[in-house]
Amino acid sequence: MTYKSKFGFGCMRLPQTDKNDPTSINQELFNQMVDIYMEKGFNYFDTSYAYHNGMSEIAIRKAVVERYPRESFKICDKIPTWALTSKDDNEKFTKEMLERLGIDYFDVLFIHNINTPWFKLAEKHDSFEFIKKMKEDGIARKIGFSFHDHASLLEKVLEKYGDLIDIVQLELNYLDWEDTSIQSRKCYDLCVKHGIDVYVMEPLKGGVIVNQSDEINQEFKKFNPDKSVASFAIRFCASLEHVKMVLCGMSKMSDLEDNCNTFENFEVISDEENEFLSEMALKLKENLAVPCSECGYCLKECPEEIPIPEYFHLYNTHKNQPESNIYRLYYDKLALEKVPAENCTFCGTCIDFCTQKIDIPEELENVCEHFQEGFSPFTGSP
Ligand code: SF4
Ligand code: SF4
Repeated sequence: MTYKSKFGFGCMRLPQTDKNDPTSINQELFNQMVDIYMEKGFNYFDTSYAYHNGMSEIAIRKAVVERYPRESFKICDKIPTWALTSKDDNEKFTKEMLERLGIDYFDVLFIHNINTPWFKLAEKHDSFEFIKKMKEDGIARKIGFSFHDHASLLEKVLEKYGDLIDIVQLELNYLDWEDTSIQSRKCYDLCVKHGIDVYVMEPLKGGVIVNQSDEINQEFKKFNPDKSVASFAIRFCASLEHVKMVLCGMSKMSDLEDNCNTFENFEVISDEENEFLSEMALKLKENLAVPCSECGYCLKECPEEIPIPEYFHLYNTHKNQPESNIYRLYYDKLALEKVPAENCTFCGTCIDFCTQKIDIPEELENVCEHFQEGFSPFTGSP
């Protein structure tokens, strides 16, 4: 395996024509990006039943399946664990996934997002037995699950099902490597112990790693003016021996170009660079109000329909650029057009589903306080 073969096209955040409408995928731009990606010899696409409200699979069918021979690309898709209501649903969803994609087998089939509550659901509805059968029947070449929880749960799952799966997809990046909630390193070590390949999601932690303060950006420039901030994060993941795939979400052509360059001219991360990244991780954490990766999994669970990640995004951006008052205006606009953060009832339903283990109601309260203090409404002036 070469480092080049580790570059996967993550299809959870594709280019959109309307940033508020996840179904509005910019197919023309996506097709162009796919052509460049394939032309350069990359070939792995990661999607799920849920991405872009089901439109990610369809966009892949149009951009890849209908335009390239089947053996020239690989597709990973994921069964929506949270939507399972019976054992038969496993089959119902996979049939629909194959139809949306226009293919008759998956290169990789995952159970999507194993965490404490959804592990119970997957067990209740025999999802592990189901994916095993899919592999035996040739409908899936490799099988596994994506994982968002503590290492203690991963240990339990691997002890029970480690023998039948090939891959675990982990959230792994230099910010979360030693994080006590995400526990990337511990989870990685467990997969190594069980002889299971690691595929990486969120190498940039949903953009958190690249949307940082000017001060941190300057430090990266000073350290190496020729490499992008994203390239360090991606090389950190891909340099790990048991990481076989790094999924890069790309919503712009420039993201694709930067990532192609990183993998075409791959350099294993050095000890000096690793040390620098550990220092930057500490600084980044100091600047971060909430470690939200904007994955959106909490949205399905909130009965009040609060746009939780959008509030956390504003909170983080404003913490990095406190001199700009524009964010207060966005905050008011968001509350007006959608649902105010103040509407949180502290029911706690969302907490177990947060991939980053954030105490969402407590942080929403902080968001409210932050944007209400020190500003006069509408003008955004202190
Ligand atoms: S605690 Fe607040 S944000 Fe979470 S589900 Fe309940 S109302 Fe929604
Ligand atoms: S609060 Fe948690 S679940 Fe919701 S978008 Fe952020 S990281 Fe994802």
